[in-house]
Amino acid sequence: MNIAVLRIGHRLVRDDRTTTHVALVSRSFGCNILYMTDVNDDIKSTIDDVNNRWGYASNFKIEIVKNWRNTILNWKKNGGIVIHLTMYGLNVDDIISKIKNSSNDILIIVGAEKVPSEVYKLSDYNIAVSNQPHSEISALAIVLDRIYEGKQLKLNFESAKMKIIPSIKEKIIEKNNYLCNTEL
Ligand code: SAM
Repeated sequence: MNIAVLRIGHRLVRDDRTTTHVALVSRSFGCNILYMTDVNDDIKSTIDDVNNRWGYASNFKIEIVKNWRNTILNWKKNGGIVIHLTMYGLNVDDIISKIKNSSNDILIIVGAEKVPSEVYKLSDYNIAVSNQPHSEISALAIVLDRIYEGKQLKLNFESAKMKIIPSIKEKIIEKNNYLCNTEL
């Protein structure tokens, strides 16, 4: 099952940090692609740099799209499911098993500012992580966790130049087959 994220409504500069974090969650949890409607080359190059150093679990990339509506319509045309994260939706735990059981590819839409009402109608499911205002980064992470059932925490990242050796008290990194104990 391929999972893509569509970020709608990124406000240049103001939302840069949040969108970078949406990208980091998507990448580290094994999504395939983040579609963005507004160009910010800094976010793309940050993620390219992270991929280059820390490797690939899913060939994650960022793609800039001109028209979010076409991205949604094409996704549906190709048989994929579209879910939109919003506090007005159905509680994630009441609907997630239906979505997972379909085993279709999933496009997850997250907003920044107010999302156009058309998105609610075009989406197959409007899903809430509690019906309270939340953070899109957190909502995305929780929904992905429900879909991947925790397996996303143990992904293998190929072609990594750096790999962390988990440690209780130290910072240990494997670089070019050498173990480095970095400064705390
Ligand atoms: N103020 C904006 C509005 O009125 O629509 C929403 C801002 S909110 C921080 C940004 C995004 O976070 C939303 O578009 C939605 O995707 C996500 N979000 C916020 N609360 C959520 C919730 N309870 N469940 C799921 N997603 C949520």
